[in-house]
Amino acid sequence: MAQVELQNVIKDYGKTRVIHGVDLTIETGEFVVFVGPSGCGKSTLLRMIAGLEEFTSGDLLIGNEVVNDVVPAERGVAMVFQSYALYPHMTVFENMAFGLKQSKTPKAEIDQRVRSAADALQVTEYLERLPKHLSGGQRQRVAIGRAIVRDPRVFLFDEPLSNLDASLRVQTRIEIAKLHNALDATMIYVTHDQVEAMTLADRIVVLNAGRIEQVGSPLTLYNRPANLFVAEFIGSPKMNIVDITKTPTAHTKQLLSKAKKRGACFVGLRPEHLDVSSKDTALLTGQIRHIEQLGEYSLAYVSLDGDIEITAKLPANSKLGIGSDINLKASDEKLLFFGADHMALA
Ligand code: ADP
Repeated sequence: MAQVELQNVIKDYGKTRVIHGVDLTIETGEFVVFVGPSGCGKSTLLRMIAGLEEFTSGDLLIGNEVVNDVVPAERGVAMVFQSYALYPHMTVFENMAFGLKQSKTPKAEIDQRVRSAADALQVTEYLERLPKHLSGGQRQRVAIGRAIVRDPRVFLFDEPLSNLDASLRVQTRIEIAKLHNALDATMIYVTHDQVEAMTLADRIVVLNAGRIEQVGSPLTLYNRPANLFVAEFIGSPKMNIVDITKTPTAHTKQLLSKAKKRGACFVGLRPEHLDVSSKDTALLTGQIRHIEQLGEYSLAYVSLDGDIEITAKLPANSKLGIGSDINLKASDEKLLFFGADHMALA
């Protein structure tokens, strides 16, 4: 297990800068998730840590030692890819044993390590099968097992669940979380899925266009996003952002007065923090344009005026239907205020 440190890391592809000076320390045993929209540089950063991409400038330290020029096999990292990257002509056992064989580990030890990882991941009964005779979820477990047997200092995961169907994704996500608890290993995990980030991470790193927007625990990011980008990226359904300069006063009177007091240009309201209220106590009023019933709750898409729409999470037994007028309130401590520069106000 080891600490990982990125110091002013920059990556250019030709003339295009894709990583703009990233500084980050990942503690020993920590589970850190890089999250952000497609193209923000998550995979590039992970591949740089793995040794699969060169550094334009800056340093990477693993266990307090600069390893920019150390070849991947000697960095003590093991990577799990979205595509599994198993050797098709080798059995599960041979795939898992491959790295250890390469490093001339004694046969008895290889056997012991492969069997123990296979047990932990429940693939023991498939050890003699070829990858093509496994399901996607089983293949990904083998790929994770291949990383475990190498006993790396750092595990790297590049969107490992993206090729799995929804239920397997949830199941494998839980397996990975349990694995982290059991191994106490340093893990860096890339995903564009904020639910994976929220459920797996000790700390989340939100990236946008090659820069870090915020680093913090899942709850810090949920409760105290540093800016509008993080506010909208974390949380599902997405946070409503009301641009008070563009909102008709009649529909947002109370909200406007609170925003003005704080000197805010934008107010963030999560759908799950909105409640139906009386007209007098309403922060916002509007008309329901569409409803999605999800069993446990429903989502109401409320038009404040023309094209300004917000989402409210309503109890499943709500009697309000499409076309109903609706008054909504939220408690003061749930409101988030942002300035003209999109940064959160203290
Ligand atoms: P993410 O993993 O967040 O989707 P990537 O790290 O794959 O993003 O890519 C970051 C940016 O770098 C993107 O704009 C992408 O087009 C660009 N990029 C990635 N790999 C290369 C490459 N080999 N050559 C040129 N540009 C690249």
